[in-house]
Amino acid sequence: MCKTLYIWKQQKMLIKMKKPILSKSWLLLTGGEFKLAQYWLKQPDVQVEETEHGQIICTLLNRTESIVYEGLSVFINFLKYLQEPRSFEELLSWGKQHEISNELIEETLQTLVNDKILLVGNLPWKLTVDSRLWSYLAAQTSSLDKLYNSEQAWNSSRVGIIGVGGVGSRVAHELAAMGIPSLILIDHDDVSSHNLTHQPLYARDSVGKLKVNVLKDILHNRYGTLIEGLASPITQEISPLLLERLNTCSIVILCADEPSVDILASWITPHLTKFNIPHIVGGGYHGHSTSTGTTVIPGLTGCWQCYDSLIEKKETYRSFQHIRGVSGSFNPLIQVLVSFIIADTVSVITKLTKPLLTNGVGDFNLETGKFNWRAGSRDEKCEICSHITNHYVNFT
Ligand SMILES: [Zn+2]
Repeated sequence: MCKTLYIWKQQKMLIKMKKPILSKSWLLLTGGEFKLAQYWLKQPDVQVEETEHGQIICTLLNRTESIVYEGLSVFINFLKYLQEPRSFEELLSWGKQHEISNELIEETLQTLVNDKILLVGNLPWKLTVDSRLWSYLAAQTSSLDKLYNSEQAWNSSRVGIIGVGGVGSRVAHELAAMGIPSLILIDHDDVSSHNLTHQPLYARDSVGKLKVNVLKDILHNRYGTLIEGLASPITQEISPLLLERLNTCSIVILCADEPSVDILASWITPHLTKFNIPHIVGGGYHGHSTSTGTTVIPGLTGCWQCYDSLIEKKETYRSFQHIRGVSGSFNPLIQVLVSFIIADTVSVITKLTKPLLTNGVGDFNLETGKFNWRAGSRDEKCEICSHITNHYVNFT
């Protein structure tokens, strides 16, 4: 998509705008009154180039959009100056130095906010490190305040992961790489030789060691993540210690499939829901499909219990003789599941993107490339979650 907008044909004159300046989106509503925002900042993903014909091309890298402005080099300098959060006074003073009127500065700011080139708000958020994650997330909003609060939430979060096999170990690895400061890993399994092909964080020399300890060493050494490893089995009677630790998490992810994803979820999700802790059920891949979701945000979405009728119950029976089969693992299928889980974890913690796996349960089928989503809704009479009130703001 490409639109043309004329800004500074001559240094001091705004000659033509494609759309009239009517919106007041750059004014913030505080305490019932409109107030001038305190800071402006160029979106980190905006790439600016000046052509030899005097056009300024702003490419919004994360948003596959380019906007072409007619202008002079001073416009690029203005955007260069806005690579740090700038107050209105600073911008006016910059204008004065470059002989640009206050009105033109105001109109230009308005245009650039409308075109999603600038972030605006009262908190001086900026990309603190060379973080591709935060450049991506910044492009989801125009609000510096939202970004500031989301980054604070991310940097003070703790994620609990139950089961660190094919899915859980990857989820832990990705989150640690993305800067999650603290993880609680729960798994009582040792690394086995048959894990090595599809759980690549575990090396040959880690066979026989507790998975949580191996991961703790790797992720702490690599990313400095604070990691608590608990080698406790999950049983129907969840231990008070485990519940106490889970209660300290911002979100808990269920990635274990023993005895089965559904049974494990039915044991543990009622506790998490009652504690008001968001959680993602997403531990199973079998055949060529993965069970994905649900993501539960207590008070906002339905809980595992609400979707009981959507879950296929498998009959269990006692066997007297059996030949043990070897269940298959296909790394691409695991990666798909991990991607859904990570996307929803980012969403729940930062609230800058929408969670994908709420209000239902589903399966992604790698053979067809299709998602089979069984939609559900919050059960107003659910004994687990109906009384919980929503403390969440809306997702962007
Ligand atoms: Zn419920």
